[in-house]
Amino acid sequence: MTLAQTTSNKNSSNPFVSLNYEPALESLGNDYYDEVAAAEFQEHILRWRNNSLLPQLGLDPQAVTDEDFIVAFGKFESRKPLLALRYHGYQFGEYNPRLGDGRGFLYGQVRGTDGELYDFGTKGSGTTPYSRGGDGMLTLKGGLREVLAAEALHHMGVRTSRCLSMIETGLSLWRGDEPSPTRSCVMVRMSRSHIRFGTFERLHYLRRPDLTKKLLDHVIEQYYQHLISEQNQYAVFYAELVKRVAKLAAQWMTAGFCHAVLNTDNMSITGESFDYGPYGFIPTYQPYFTAAYFDYYRRYCYSQQPAICKLNLEMLQEALKAVIDPSDMDAALASFDQHYHSEYCSLMFKKLGFDQLTDPEAAELLNLTIQFLQDSQVGYHLFFYEMARTFSSKWRDEPGLVMATSDIVPPSGASEIFDNWCILYHKMLNNYHPDQMDVIAQNLARHNPKTVLLRPLIESVWEPISQEDNWQPFSELIKLIQSGG
Ligand code: AMP
Ligand code: MG
Repeated sequence: MTLAQTTSNKNSSNPFVSLNYEPALESLGNDYYDEVAAAEFQEHILRWRNNSLLPQLGLDPQAVTDEDFIVAFGKFESRKPLLALRYHGYQFGEYNPRLGDGRGFLYGQVRGTDGELYDFGTKGSGTTPYSRGGDGMLTLKGGLREVLAAEALHHMGVRTSRCLSMIETGLSLWRGDEPSPTRSCVMVRMSRSHIRFGTFERLHYLRRPDLTKKLLDHVIEQYYQHLISEQNQYAVFYAELVKRVAKLAAQWMTAGFCHAVLNTDNMSITGESFDYGPYGFIPTYQPYFTAAYFDYYRRYCYSQQPAICKLNLEMLQEALKAVIDPSDMDAALASFDQHYHSEYCSLMFKKLGFDQLTDPEAAELLNLTIQFLQDSQVGYHLFFYEMARTFSSKWRDEPGLVMATSDIVPPSGASEIFDNWCILYHKMLNNYHPDQMDVIAQNLARHNPKTVLLRPLIESVWEPISQEDNWQPFSELIKLIQSGG
């Protein structure tokens, strides 16, 4: 990128305004977006700033003021063009050609200190040509829920977008799924691209293979750089996307996370997790746990997520076949289950404290763990946290000591399976030298946080905000999440 291609405003003292923005998407031409204007708000109260992201942008948190956030991401001063991206998508299985950024825009793209290209995307910043009669706004509770989900998932090892800021904007909104009137905000999301499966689906719908190829070249150049020298780079790209999405599904499942709205406009072409609306973390192991109240047929329930991801990848083939050989894509998709399974097993094994999957009993232990969690309905997260909290090298001595001091009390119907689980876990520990017990304790501590965003916890920090504008519990919760507590 030459200096002439960047669009920074070096004269501004606002560090966000003077960042070196790269017009990566903009330079593709206006077939992919519309230029829009931001809404003007009467009020701007900075409610959240993610200082932990600033070093990644080359910024010192101490040198960035709250007013800098407000001027950049509440008033949108000195930043042009603002781009509403065009996309379509399959929503609950039905094709919808009337989508697109309806309440947000691409604010700018910035190269991180890690060399990756990041998008700043707004949510709740006003109407666009794609608002379809909506108000273009985001509720404060909706913003807060996305901030929390992104931080929690990030700290649980999920490859996710994160939020940079949340600014309350003083409007009263009416929503069917929140007590109304309810408060408003603009949230800024930092992600590795907002190009979605649905962005390509739109180009197929419009019968524009030329634009598909151009966008695919852009995606590979920016987000799959290591594939550029590959002979069959388009096919290899799709195979890599399959792997990334399988891995992401495994990360969600291990984290006990249900995204809730896995429409193809919510699937990133970089395989990153993003867009957190009615999501939920499972309280206990329930395959049919469904987070969105409007998902009547449980299409996007917890256990369906890998299958839905695979289906979305399959539907994407239709949009990509203008450029990629369908038989290559079929062959790549055929390995989805295997990638998913090996990733899921390895992540779950880590939650159980172990580094390698080579133990002969590994698969049996995983099966038994899931069966116990399902039969007993003890808390999914509580079970693993209690393992981490009470683990002792003495567990290696006899099965009766495993989980003996934990708060896990299996119901009578699941006590036999619990005993079997303890016997097997004890046996597994004996595959390791006593000196390795510390490593197991560290793994358990690292992969099983105490604080998990179950619905009552989110409500418990929202209530003081909605009732007395008390942000203290929210700040404390974010600190806990960010410290892995
Ligand atoms: P989502 O459910 O957030 O993934 O949004 C699906 C589509 O609806 C996207 O095109 C959004 O931009 C649009 N949308 C959602 N809420 C609103 C709103 N309040 N105003 C305008 N568009 C919206
Ligand atoms: Mg969306």
